[in-house]
Amino acid sequence: MKYTANYHTHTYRCGHARGEDRQYVEEAIQAGIKTLGFSDHAPMPFPSGHHSGHRVQMEDAYDYFYSIGELKREYARDITIHIGVETEFYPDTFDLFWDYISQFPLEYMILGQHFIGREEDFLYSGSPSSSEEKLVKFTNNIIDAIHTGKFLYIAHPDILNYTGDYEPYHREMTRLCQAAKDAGVPLEINRLGYFEHRIYPSDRFFEIAAQVGNDVVIGSDAHSPDVFRDHASIEGCAAFAKKHGLNILPELTMPKEFTKR
Ligand SMILES: [Zn+2]
Ligand SMILES: [Zn+2]
Repeated sequence: MKYTANYHTHTYRCGHARGEDRQYVEEAIQAGIKTLGFSDHAPMPFPSGHHSGHRVQMEDAYDYFYSIGELKREYARDITIHIGVETEFYPDTFDLFWDYISQFPLEYMILGQHFIGREEDFLYSGSPSSSEEKLVKFTNNIIDAIHTGKFLYIAHPDILNYTGDYEPYHREMTRLCQAAKDAGVPLEINRLGYFEHRIYPSDRFFEIAAQVGNDVVIGSDAHSPDVFRDHASIEGCAAFAKKHGLNILPELTMPKEFTKR
């Protein structure tokens, strides 16, 4: 499969990715990518004083936007670069977050709901759990995020490691997929998860997405520049989509006038 656009790319600033920003750009060009979106884990204000260790720190935010902005101009002939963030939706502080992040030249956001409710509660989506309450909260967070109209797509929508009965899972994931479909928000098949044999991309989730009729995108979730060399994982994700009869969108359109700077 021709893979020409990736909107899910991290940088070393989040603390768990490797390489220089420039290396991601050069490796992407080498791999034939024409559109590269950076979407590092968003810097975020926490009024509670919580320290979040898995994201760009607020003191590094300017550097992130500056560095990617410079590369965007420098490499404009070879590749289209977009500056975004991946972020969770925390209902109590989303407005505060939006006020903060929209001061930067932000072009798009993707939703990566790693934690549920408030990050301070450390309710990690990927921890095995049979709690139906957690399942419903996760789904509600994502649907509320979709309804803000601010997310380009949903990264690893199948990150929730729910180990309970199938019926509530099917009910909640149908609700999630339907909300995404109604809003025209695609769902991601996560290349990193495929590559590392994580619980996602999940067959049981994408069976539901196929029933609902969601569009999908392949997101590299690059935490290292050399992932763009691994063509096998692209073919694997494409085969996964095909197996489920899912429609892959090769390119996405950036939202217009995303922030009111
Ligand atoms: Zn990450
Ligand atoms: Zn990510």
